[in-house]
Amino acid sequence: MPESLSPELLSLRQRTEAFADFLCGLKEGQRSTIVDASKKAGLFGMTQPAAYGGAPASTLALTVVREGLAARNAPFTEHVFGPGPGVLAGCAEPLASSHLQPLLAGQKRGAFGFTEPDDAPQPTSAVDDGDAFIVHGQKSYVTGGGSADFINTLVQIDGAGPAMLVIDTDLPGVTLTRRFTSLDGSHHAAFAFDGVRVPKHNLIGKPGEGMPRAMRQIGDTRLAIAASCSGWLMWTVGFVEAHIRQPDRSGQPRAAKEGVRLRYADLRIQAYAARSMLYRTARLADAGENVVNEAIACKVFATETVGSAVDAAIQLVGGGALVEGHPLEGLYRRVRALRLAEGASDVLRLNLVRGNLELDKGRL
Ligand SMILES: Cc1cc2nc3c(=O)[nH]c(=O)nc-3n(C[C@H](O)[C@H](O)[C@H](O)COP(=O)(O)OP(=O)(O)OC[C@H]3O[C@@H](n4cnc5c(N)ncnc54)[C@H](O)[C@@H]3O)c2cc1C
Repeated sequence: MPESLSPELLSLRQRTEAFADFLCGLKEGQRSTIVDASKKAGLFGMTQPAAYGGAPASTLALTVVREGLAARNAPFTEHVFGPGPGVLAGCAEPLASSHLQPLLAGQKRGAFGFTEPDDAPQPTSAVDDGDAFIVHGQKSYVTGGGSADFINTLVQIDGAGPAMLVIDTDLPGVTLTRRFTSLDGSHHAAFAFDGVRVPKHNLIGKPGEGMPRAMRQIGDTRLAIAASCSGWLMWTVGFVEAHIRQPDRSGQPRAAKEGVRLRYADLRIQAYAARSMLYRTARLADAGENVVNEAIACKVFATETVGSAVDAAIQLVGGGALVEGHPLEGLYRRVRALRLAEGASDVLRLNLVRGNLELDKGRL
């Protein structure tokens, strides 16, 4: 097995599997039941800092849980972990009390504003005005923006470079211009900022630190996405295996056909490769290594691979797999978004090569 887990992590995986089975038995609208059960199972605090009552877990432990939930194709997994600090991690007062603490306690909701419309006249910018910044610009794809109390927003500060600024959504000049839902069922919003006066103490860290902070948040998320995709690959292999063991109209098992066996072999090879790189990278991250390029490699490979694996599984199962409510239909929609979210695959490929050729980073 690529993961070679310690007894503690094996026990965590068993707990995760039991939790995934519990999720599979629930109906919509049972968020508080999930949160209570997740706290009891010791999963909820894994993404939260100890200073705020959490029990922060290693990258490997988080990988085990994320992969384990997806390996059962469990629903409602968005409620399992408590809100993490994201780019607010380690922020100073007064932001720590006004935004970070209520975010972690579930009293306020935050969102992440990075992507801008293609036709934006200029990037979102902030101009110094004494004790505040005056912000103008737009963000086009803010997940959870419709119910967010604040948006951690990438802005260009005049003369100082990119920075992350916390913009409360109820400030004068903030307009929610559009709400929309993507193929995977997640909800988003677009925003316009028109002369928004944001207190200077809402700046996270220092001017110029914006891009590294945003990229660190995105980097962690990329490995989390790869872990889920790895689990979904395992689920897909299991689903196809059960299917091809069954007889077709001829009375022979579907797996009697060599063409079916070849497709199934590809699924197993892909799942093995995705898991191997994921677990290696999680261990490197826990050893304190720079894994920016490896997390990119994992995210691109896992998202591209799970996309083609689910597509192949639908082809093997047939038209029934496309009927609304079939688990493969739902998974097909769910995984498609991941080749764009947190970095389009081609953009990440170019970043990886820049890391290698220009920055001498990354390993094989
Ligand atoms: C489900 C989902 C959730 C999201 N949540 C958020 C969020 O919370 N906050 C947020 O800010 N954004 C969010 N996004 C937006 C996401 O980050 C962007 O969709 C993604 O970065 C791609 O940017 P884009 O859509 O502007 O496409 P573009 O940047 O226009 O890219 C489209 C295509 O153009 C090509 N391309 C673009 N640039 C290059 C290049 N430099 N070199 C080569 N080819 C290139 C690639 O083929 C690429 O796939 C989300 C997206 C999705 C799907």
